Amino acid sequence: MTGTTTIGVLALQGDVREHVDALERLGVRSIRVRRPAELAECDALVLPGGESTTMFKLARTFELFDPIVERLRDGMPAFGTCAGMIMLADRVVDGIEGQETFGGLDVTVRRNAFGRQVDSFEGPVDVKGFDTALHGVFIRAPWVESAGDGVDVLATVAVGDPAPGESDTRIVAVRQGSLVATSFHPEVGHDDRMHRYFVDLVTTS
Ligand code: GLN
Repeated sequence: MTGTTTIGVLALQGDVREHVDALERLGVRSIRVRRPAELAECDALVLPGGESTTMFKLARTFELFDPIVERLRDGMPAFGTCAGMIMLADRVVDGIEGQETFGGLDVTVRRNAFGRQVDSFEGPVDVKGFDTALHGVFIRAPWVESAGDGVDVLATVAVGDPAPGESDTRIVAVRQGSLVATSFHPEVGHDDRMHRYFVDLVTTS
């Protein structure tokens, strides 16, 4: 199915290995991307979790920033998790001074959004189209504060302590065309359904 497809994992920083392993479990050829020549080999790119404020600077240093932006503009499929979601967002709230993103996703994300007390947590997440909930691991995660009309919301989670009968939810997974992003880390653990979702998107697009 995926014999000729190569999916890169941006390997400047973050949980690169977990993504490579997940793609390998699905039988997909995957390479670590640190140079423009490696990016050129890829049909699609995964942007891992890590630290977006470090990742964008390293992407500049390694001269990958502009080539990635160009590939995204040309329609290369991409899947960002946590910091990777931030890197795909067109707009960031609570970024550092001068923080840049590759962009492409018409969303505003808030960095470290869940607040100090629930800085990191785990729990079930219902993802559109999945039969059963996915175990979501959130580590200083962003959420999607607002999304444009072309963005499909794949998952939300309840937050805070709403009054009875009310609910307060935040968007934690989105898709816009061939771009997919999650606030949580589907690469942690052995539930490969989010990766399969992305691989299916890549191989059918
Ligand atoms: N808080 C991190 C950032 O701003 C993201 C954390 C993560 O990827 N686990 O990039």
